[in-house]
Amino acid sequence: MSKYIFVTGGVVSSLGKGIASAAMGKLLESRGLKVTLIKCDPYINVDPGTMNPYQHGEVYVLDDGAETDLDLGHYERFTNAELTRDNNITTGKIYYSVITKERRGDYLGNTVQIIPHITDEIKNSIKKVSVNRRVDVVIVEIGGTVGDIESLPFLEAIRQLRLEVGRGNAINVHVTLVPYIKSAGEIKTKPTQHSVGTLREIGIIPDIIICRTEKPLNDATKEKIALFCNVDKEAVITAIDVESIYEVPICFKKEGMDRLILKFLNLKCKKEDLREWETKVLKRLKYPSKEVEIAVVGKYITLQDAYKSVYEALIHGGIANDAKLIIRRIDSEDIEKDGEEGHLKGVRGILVPGGFGHRGIEGKIKAIRYARENNIPYLGLCLGVQTAVIEFARNVCRMKGANSTEFEKNTKYPVISLLEEQKNVKTKGATMRLGIYDCVIKKGTKAYEAYKTSRVAERHRHRYEFNNEYRDILENHGMIFSGIYPKNNLAEIVELKNHPWFVACQFHPEFNSKPDRAHPLFRDFIKAAISCKR
Ligand code: GLN
Repeated sequence: MSKYIFVTGGVVSSLGKGIASAAMGKLLESRGLKVTLIKCDPYINVDPGTMNPYQHGEVYVLDDGAETDLDLGHYERFTNAELTRDNNITTGKIYYSVITKERRGDYLGNTVQIIPHITDEIKNSIKKVSVNRRVDVVIVEIGGTVGDIESLPFLEAIRQLRLEVGRGNAINVHVTLVPYIKSAGEIKTKPTQHSVGTLREIGIIPDIIICRTEKPLNDATKEKIALFCNVDKEAVITAIDVESIYEVPICFKKEGMDRLILKFLNLKCKKEDLREWETKVLKRLKYPSKEVEIAVVGKYITLQDAYKSVYEALIHGGIANDAKLIIRRIDSEDIEKDGEEGHLKGVRGILVPGGFGHRGIEGKIKAIRYARENNIPYLGLCLGVQTAVIEFARNVCRMKGANSTEFEKNTKYPVISLLEEQKNVKTKGATMRLGIYDCVIKKGTKAYEAYKTSRVAERHRHRYEFNNEYRDILENHGMIFSGIYPKNNLAEIVELKNHPWFVACQFHPEFNSKPDRAHPLFRDFIKAAISCKR
């Protein structure tokens, strides 16, 4: 039977519960245990696929095509857990399933209620993952903050589940904020006391408290939190702000977190070994021999989380090349207003990430032209390949007004158009071309040089696609189609002849990159950027 770690959060949101959960997973894996992680999201959307990045941040895509919360990205980057759509549970999914059962007559005769029907559905969804994956430990993160109306059924479900599996088989970890009040020069524990109080009211008593803080917690503070929150002093963990999220497993190790978890869960295993993580990731992050500045030209630039996996994959590319990565975040609409020169001057690489809708497109196209004409390495992701094709068609092949039918329905040159299979799709939820598809790589190309193999599989999330009617014209002008989806001949990767490194792909390599195993395209993009002479 799997053991459970339930992770909740208090005081404020954005405390890094996802990173804390992922770091715990990493620590347990380093002791030879097999883990999986589940994210419970209390919102009513069935999945985040229909949400605006400003509301939700990045939508993270799994191999099976599930559109999930970005915390699953942290889980995959830190651990080897195999994640599927079952690893992201939402209120929407739970109610959808319960209501479907009700209509079918499964509860015939009964009033369907939050307790027990919704809570049972949540418990069964969690148990299903632990049974199917045969792991030692399941880490279940509950989104939101304790005290929210929305998260109550989830908290009730984990309270019951802990009771069911019994002592020694489940623990509760609560992540809180311990603020430092500058004017008083003091660290304050009261918010933590209150949020643990709220948890206790609903019957949950935490075993471990992770305190997010900008100043180290001294013994007296730890003792105070332990006393008021009813935990051992050693179970009050300092989670001090760190420069890189990849330091968190090491910080937890120093605080004795793994020993605590093993003690509470009665688990016996080998000594922890994070040496590879320390040498391959942290050492290179901390002591790089050079730096390189990359521009990311997008439209959700002000929001930290909108391109989370892209930023992380760039950092991984930096680690692989022993380089510190500086990211210049540029709003493509600013390029439309001010021109590209001022914004892009001095960068050694340009990246255009994925996106939807017309806003900011012309700015991206200008940035791509700048990369092409000035021999600056370019990496395009999804929308970033579509805009690269549009730019090339317009400015090299002289197809004036070429566009994607997403932005201009009746364009004269629809170089990007709706996928055949998308033409009759009416509903928006989970209906894109999603998840993993094969891609055959042409020898002698930059893509082949990166992957060193002629067949790969990558994750997708899009409706539009390169229009094969224009393949010959573009090829004749120097565009190389270096990656193809063999089943119906779709262009997956394009490159440019006579350019030091210009590669753009229809899929999302950023979802397949780890700190100690940078994605080959990101690795080579950064390598090219480092040798870019400007
Ligand atoms: N909007 C484009 C499409 O639907 C690109 C999607 C993306 O970048 N993820 O095809």
